[in-house]
Amino acid sequence: MVQKNSDNHFDVLIVGAGISGIGSAHHLKEQCPSKTFCILEGLESFGGTWLMHKYPGIRSDSDMFSFGYRFKPWTGKPVASGAEILNYLNEVIQDSQLEEHIRYSHKILSANWCNQKKLWTLTAINKVTDEEIRFTSNFLWMCQGYYKHSEGYTPEWPDMGKYQGTIVHPQTWPEDLDYQGKKVVIIGSGATAATLAPKLAEDCEHVTVLQRSPTYFLPRDNESLLANQLRDLDVDDAVVHDIVRRSVLKDQRDIVNLSEKEPELVKQELLNGVKSILGEDYDIDKHFTPKYRPWRQRIAVVPGGDLFHGIKAGKASMVTDEIEGFTEKGLQLKSGENLEADIIVTATGFNLCVLGDIEFSVDGELQDFSKALSYRGIMYTGLPNMAWVMGYFRAAWTLRVDLIGDFVCRLLNHMDKKSAKVVTPVVPEEDRDMKLLPWSDPKDFNPSYLTRSMHLLPKRGEKPEWQLTQDFWSEREELPKVDLDDAAFEYEYQ
Ligand SMILES: Cc1cc2nc3c(=O)[nH]c(=O)nc-3n(C[C@H](O)[C@H](O)[C@H](O)COP(=O)(O)OP(=O)(O)OC[C@H]3O[C@@H](n4cnc5c(N)ncnc54)[C@H](O)[C@@H]3O)c2cc1C
Repeated sequence: MVQKNSDNHFDVLIVGAGISGIGSAHHLKEQCPSKTFCILEGLESFGGTWLMHKYPGIRSDSDMFSFGYRFKPWTGKPVASGAEILNYLNEVIQDSQLEEHIRYSHKILSANWCNQKKLWTLTAINKVTDEEIRFTSNFLWMCQGYYKHSEGYTPEWPDMGKYQGTIVHPQTWPEDLDYQGKKVVIIGSGATAATLAPKLAEDCEHVTVLQRSPTYFLPRDNESLLANQLRDLDVDDAVVHDIVRRSVLKDQRDIVNLSEKEPELVKQELLNGVKSILGEDYDIDKHFTPKYRPWRQRIAVVPGGDLFHGIKAGKASMVTDEIEGFTEKGLQLKSGENLEADIIVTATGFNLCVLGDIEFSVDGELQDFSKALSYRGIMYTGLPNMAWVMGYFRAAWTLRVDLIGDFVCRLLNHMDKKSAKVVTPVVPEEDRDMKLLPWSDPKDFNPSYLTRSMHLLPKRGEKPEWQLTQDFWSEREELPKVDLDDAAFEYEYQ
């Protein structure tokens, strides 16, 4: 490896050119126009999740009026394919002239904060030239996502080695995988399984979705009547985006509130949607009635109810059971049933990746992120001049990218105004005996990739400012009003 010491210094370094990094860079450019910045991206192009995922049918499970940015009108149908999302991101890069600020194929290995120089130093490997390059910045904006891109999560089941067929994880889908006329079993029942099943069913002999427990789905047409109506009236794209987004967000808030007050009612409404396609005779109780309350996880939209139509047509089926082990030809289930498969797809989720697997240190001392306390899930005690964009898991991720964008830019401008060089979140004296809790409350929100890795994540305090909320609607009100001079922010001036 060639070592290269360079004077690549920027006011702000952004790690990651996915949805979060591109959105954050746009806000930085708009709201802090004098700041120099650079986006460092490990991959050869932008898009992150939407670049890496190549499984058939890849699409959003949120509507794009809320998953799109606040500032860039969405002009397509509500649910978008991976290619459409990449195209949208490309337009943002062009519109906001971000291209010249992105360095692709730069994977960050380590980040060190120097208290004396008041600088971050990032060590990156240029994957094209194999050079090691150092970058410095005053502020570090982490937009590295939340899961390992290189490998999805696949549990270890007994006798997996015996299986003679092909095992595939959706995250590393082989582009030449031939499933024409094959029997496919998908393990898992999240949004990925719901996307894959109808798409594979078009060409394979049969697709079986094997789930341990059911998930909520919202079958609905991939059309926004409101958007169509406004577009028919030649209303400007930006106005259509704004109005439809407001309407989508209002509907979502109503559903969240109703899910809290009357979970049974919401549950029945969601199940009625499924029943309306599968009919009364289908065992909805067994296959589509989750044990958890609605809205503990994002409710995946099923455009056109395609999954359910596939089941109705006999091309796809659901099995709710547990895996005893693998056999040569497929899976042995706990119920005694055998599932034969030429291909088994493990749609079993992600491996959570804290801070992009970057080694973080302060003055050369390695930092244990799990010991830090999170300020609103944006900044972390012990880590100066650093923000991490963690989007919403229940509402669209991007809603929080915009809110954090505003917050970080306001903080940077505030620091400039008061000539502060460093800001670090600190727990105020009076709160030092605050009870520390795991990062998120499993009763409120419980996807398994989070619960599996909770021990790696920072702590949450009892007070709301030391928590990561999943409530976009309250955060939208609160975040812009945060007093940046309150005791939770410690500034240094020299
Ligand atoms: C299949 C799928 C469908 C989804 N659908 C939705 C949806 O409909 N709605 C929704 O709200 N959310 C959805 N999500 C969640 C989704 O991941 C986020 O919404 C969003 O795309 C995350 O964007 P991001 O930029 O934060 O992270 P990522 O997309 O993960 O991008 C992070 C980027 O940072 C780069 N990076 C990471 N570490 C380093 C490093 N050390 N050095 C350099 N670069 C680094 C990565 O290469 C990557 O390009 C979905 C996720 C998946 C997997």
